[in-house]
Amino acid sequence: MTKIDSKIPEGPLAEKWSNYKAHQKLVNPTNKRRLDIIVVGTGLAGASAAASFGEMGFNVLDFCIQDSPRRAHSIAAQGGINAAKNYQNDGDSVYRLFYDTIKGGDYRAREANVYRLAEVSGNIIDQCVAQGVPFARDYGGTLANRSFGGVQVSRTFYAKGQTGQQLLLGAYSALSRQVHKGSVKLFTRYEMENIVIIDGRARGIIVRNLITGKLERYSAHTVVLATGGYGNTYFLSTNAMSCNCSAAIAAYKKGAYFADPAFVQIHPTCIPVHGDKQSKLTLMSESLRNDGRIWVPKKLEDAKALQAGTLNPNDIKEEDRDYYLERRYPAFGNLVPRDVASRAAKERCDKGFGVNSTGLAVFLDFSEAISRLGEDVVRQRYGNLFQMYEEIANVDPYKNPMMIYPAIHYTMGGLWVDYELQTSIKGLFALGECNFSDHGANRLGASALMQGLSDGYFVAPYTIQNYLSDQITVPRFSTDLPEFDVAEKEVQDKIDKLMSIQGDESTDSIHKKLGHIMWEYVGMGRTKEGLETGLKKLAEVKKEFWTHVRIPGSKDDQNTELEKALRVADFIEMGQLIAYDALNRNESCGGHFREEYQTEEGEAKRDDENYSYVACWNYQGDDKEPELLKEELDYKYIKVQTRNYKS
Ligand SMILES: Cc1cc2nc3c(=O)[nH]c(=O)nc-3n(C[C@H](O)[C@H](O)[C@H](O)COP(=O)(O)OP(=O)(O)OC[C@H]3O[C@@H](n4cnc5c(N)ncnc54)[C@H](O)[C@@H]3O)c2cc1C
Repeated sequence: MTKIDSKIPEGPLAEKWSNYKAHQKLVNPTNKRRLDIIVVGTGLAGASAAASFGEMGFNVLDFCIQDSPRRAHSIAAQGGINAAKNYQNDGDSVYRLFYDTIKGGDYRAREANVYRLAEVSGNIIDQCVAQGVPFARDYGGTLANRSFGGVQVSRTFYAKGQTGQQLLLGAYSALSRQVHKGSVKLFTRYEMENIVIIDGRARGIIVRNLITGKLERYSAHTVVLATGGYGNTYFLSTNAMSCNCSAAIAAYKKGAYFADPAFVQIHPTCIPVHGDKQSKLTLMSESLRNDGRIWVPKKLEDAKALQAGTLNPNDIKEEDRDYYLERRYPAFGNLVPRDVASRAAKERCDKGFGVNSTGLAVFLDFSEAISRLGEDVVRQRYGNLFQMYEEIANVDPYKNPMMIYPAIHYTMGGLWVDYELQTSIKGLFALGECNFSDHGANRLGASALMQGLSDGYFVAPYTIQNYLSDQITVPRFSTDLPEFDVAEKEVQDKIDKLMSIQGDESTDSIHKKLGHIMWEYVGMGRTKEGLETGLKKLAEVKKEFWTHVRIPGSKDDQNTELEKALRVADFIEMGQLIAYDALNRNESCGGHFREEYQTEEGEAKRDDENYSYVACWNYQGDDKEPELLKEELDYKYIKVQTRNYKS
């Protein structure tokens, strides 16, 4: 059996990363100038990595779909970024952030990676402050913190509800500096469609110029993917419309393992679905749970009246409200992790206590916070989020409770990477949300930005140098090599096939069907039977797509329908991969909830004896079940136990 080597350095946990850095190989400045790095992505992970590689002296080519790096999906991040600075003196430490992350991930993440993440978290804040990121400050001028789910300290740094935007502006300014210096070349409105492998190493990419429709070839000594997550597989999600998994699927089909695809995060606080014409869901940041209280009525008749629109929530007496998270999880209350909060909302709604016309919503109520702090303080903390809610829901959240419901938000699974963030293809690295590395089965809030920036500013700059140190005599690759011909032909054939179908269904309508199947059979509650049905339906939807899709326009021009179709073809494969993984994992952990495996109280029931591993899926060919390889998880520093948020 193939052995999975995660390349975790020897030595005590707290010294592993220092030891790695002390002994890694370096590339001298003259040689750096001779080495090219392709970075795909300009979100927080891609922009921070490209800026860092440029600053180090490498030649960097950085690609993105949007017309500006600043429009990467990271800009949408709202609530904040974690770091173990312990500014509040409330008992935080590197170890505690490490511990909270492993526990939050339901003991399915690699210890060494998570410890490193916690270790560098403080540097990220220093770096961003130096770039001028306007983090919120207390009255005295020191950086302010708030809490996110799954923790009992305040370690989340934030810039109103626009943390992602401000961090991305910081990374973008670092990137722009390198663009002006000539060390980074930017390629906006390009979409990577394939990877070029030469003698077993990633040496280039095939991209589609989204303006001209032409396929182009680029070579480099190494390729870094920072292309984000696959949440849009579910059609309705909080992700930006252009988020996709095509680069990751292209890598997977070339031999990069896909790790833990079933670990998908369903966020508890999103604006509920309000019709079948919707193509996007809106997140209400987890930060709102610092002051907002989640409840449903205690009495079924009150719930029925709310659903019928004959009762105003403000008329329900305090004693008739069920603050079910505070009731079930007194130690963490409304700030339990996302998987726990989402499941609890579903449980109440399934029992009939939902509060909107569809019965699929719970309240997030600020009335207590407003009377405790005053409306001005609440406005200062969450003003833009309240405004956004009012614009979408047409309800004033200062006067009425918000309505929220869980929705697909983030993907913990991703390309498998070792400690160096290298995939199972030599010379192919994966950073940020597109790798699986740090969050196990459930990501804690405010930890994605931390991971993306840790990967880009503080980890990859070291590990890529280690990789490139033995590449200094390798000359640049010509894009006329046969490997480029083959990779380009694969893309061309796929495009030609898609364009030739000219069926009777739009890409969006098939994507929507895919989303329904995923939500129903591979969503919040999964069963063996449901997953098997889901897999059958996914095979049908795949067939339907490849026989019925209609793509108007030309392939040799700007064609957004073709762009979508190329992405949806990959989302279907991604959906199958998620379902295979979910079916294989006969346990419940984090965001992966198999209804057969739950405690009497409805909590996730892990099976550590049989499933304490990273599931690495190895592509075997179209319409063939992928091979499962396992990276065993070895907990040496943390006692694996049942997650407890009650006491
Ligand atoms: C609404 C919302 C709010 C969030 N709030 C928070 C928060 O408060 N705190 C937190 O920690 N996390 C938050 N997250 C999660 C976090 O925003 C993301 O996980 C993170 O920004 C991902 O960054 P990334 O750099 O990995 O990818 P992205 O920001 O998604 O960037 C991907 C990049 O890859 C490019 N790309 C993709 N595919 C291709 C291709 N085939 N070819 C060329 N380019 C490609 C894109 O153009 C883009 O530049 C939030 C997420 C959402 C949806």
